[in-house]
Amino acid sequence: MGLTGIQIFKLLPKTNCAECGVPTCLAFAMNLAAGKAELDSCPYVSDEAREQLAEASAPPIRPVSIGAGARAFKTGGETVMFRHEKTFYNPTGLAAMVASDMDGAALDTKLKEWNALQFERVGLNLRPELVALKDANGNGAAFAAAAKKIAAESEFGLILMTDSVEAMRAAVEACAFKRPLLYAATADNAEDMGNLAKEAGLPLAVKAENADALIALSDKLTGMGLKDLVLDSGAREIKQLFQDQVAIRRAALKAGNKSLGFPTIAFPCEMAGNLDMETLIASMLIAKYAGILVLSDFKGENLFPLLLARLNIYTDPQRPMTVTEGIYEIGAPDENSPVLVTTNFSLTYFIVSGEIEGSRVPSWLLIMDTEGLSVMTAWAAGKFSGDVVGMFVKKCGIADKVAHKKIIIPGYAASISGEMEEELPDWEILIGPRDASLIPKYLKDMKK
Ligand code: SF4
Repeated sequence: MGLTGIQIFKLLPKTNCAECGVPTCLAFAMNLAAGKAELDSCPYVSDEAREQLAEASAPPIRPVSIGAGARAFKTGGETVMFRHEKTFYNPTGLAAMVASDMDGAALDTKLKEWNALQFERVGLNLRPELVALKDANGNGAAFAAAAKKIAAESEFGLILMTDSVEAMRAAVEACAFKRPLLYAATADNAEDMGNLAKEAGLPLAVKAENADALIALSDKLTGMGLKDLVLDSGAREIKQLFQDQVAIRRAALKAGNKSLGFPTIAFPCEMAGNLDMETLIASMLIAKYAGILVLSDFKGENLFPLLLARLNIYTDPQRPMTVTEGIYEIGAPDENSPVLVTTNFSLTYFIVSGEIEGSRVPSWLLIMDTEGLSVMTAWAAGKFSGDVVGMFVKKCGIADKVAHKKIIIPGYAASISGEMEEELPDWEILIGPRDASLIPKYLKDMKK
C-alpha cells in the first residue's frame, strides 16, 4: 500500500519553496498521497527519497498519456472502484477504426466528418480523441503512409494496430511525434514490440488470451523496463469482458497487483454487428472500467450520448457541475430585450436557457457564480441574496448592453427583491415565474 501524506512529508525537503505549484511541502505530500501530483514536480527531492517515494506514491493504476496537441489525453490514474467514493479522474478515450487500405480521399472524408463531431456542453468541448488505424494487409508502407496522414492532417491521436513489428516500426517513424499507442504486444511478439516501444518511448498495449496470460505478459514487459502499458484481456464477449474489467480494476486497487495496475482497452467494434449495439456495450464500459474504447465509426447520434455519459461519470460528484459566470445571449438579443438572472448550477442554466430559447423571445441571461448551487439552495446559503445579486448585476456589464433597467429574478428568490432594489435603486426588479416551464408565457406576455 502507498504511504500516507505524513509519511511522504517526512521524506520531502520541508523548505516550502512552492516550486511544485502548492505553497507547502505538506500540501504537496497530501496531493502525492491522493495521487493528484507527480513526484517530478518537486525538483529538490533527494535521490534516496525519490526512490522510496516513486514506488510508494505511484497511483495503483498508472496514468498513461496518449496523443499530442489538442486531443492529447491521459487514461488510467484511477484510485477508486466506485465514483461516489471519491471521483474518477481520466475519462475513457474514444476511438473509431479505419483500415490502412482505405483510399486517401475516403480517409480525408472520414477525418473531416469525425473532426466536426464536437459538442459544446457546460462550457466544455466534448469530442473523441483517437483514430485506431488497423493494418489491413501487412503492407507496412501503406500502414505508415496512412498513419502519417492521420497524424499530420488531423488533431486525432492514434492507435497503431498491427502484429507486424516491421509495419509498426515504419508507422512509428511516420507519426511518433503524435505519441501513438502501439497495439499490441502479444505472446508471439512481446520482446520485439517491447523493444520498439521502449526505443521510441511510446505507450504499448498488451493483448493476451485471458487475465492470467495478461499478468505474465505485463510482467515480462515491465521487466524489460516498459512503464506505459494498456491492457487488453482478449475478451470479446460481453459478460467475460465485463468480468475482466472489474477483476483488473479490483486486483490493481484492492490487492495492489502491479501487473494489472494499468488502464485497459476494449473493442466494442469487434463485439457487435452494428453501431447501436457497439454504443450500448461502450456505455457499459465507460462506467466499468475501460480506459480506451474502440468503435467501428463515429456518428453523431451514437457518439453524443457516449460523450455525455462519459462527462457525467467522470465529473467529480463532490463538486456540482457549473457554467461560467457571465452574460449569455439567447437568440440575438438587442438593447430592448429582457434581462433575466439565475445561478450557475448547470442544470438550472440548461433548463432556464432552454425555456428562454423555446419562447423565441431573444433575451439576456445573467449567470451568477453561486458555486454550482441551485436558486433555492444558493439563496438559503446566502450566495444569492439581494445585495450579492445586485452587486453582480452592476459589475457584469449588462447596463452597457441594454437601454432599459429592468431585471427578472427567479420566482423562488422573490424575497430578495427588496434588497436588490436597495442595491440597484434605478432598476426595476421583476419577479419571474417559480416554475421554469412558465418562462415562455411570462416573456411573451411581457413582450405584448
Ligand atoms: S517544490 Fe519540493 S521543496 Fe518546494 S514546496 Fe514543493 S515539495 Fe516542498
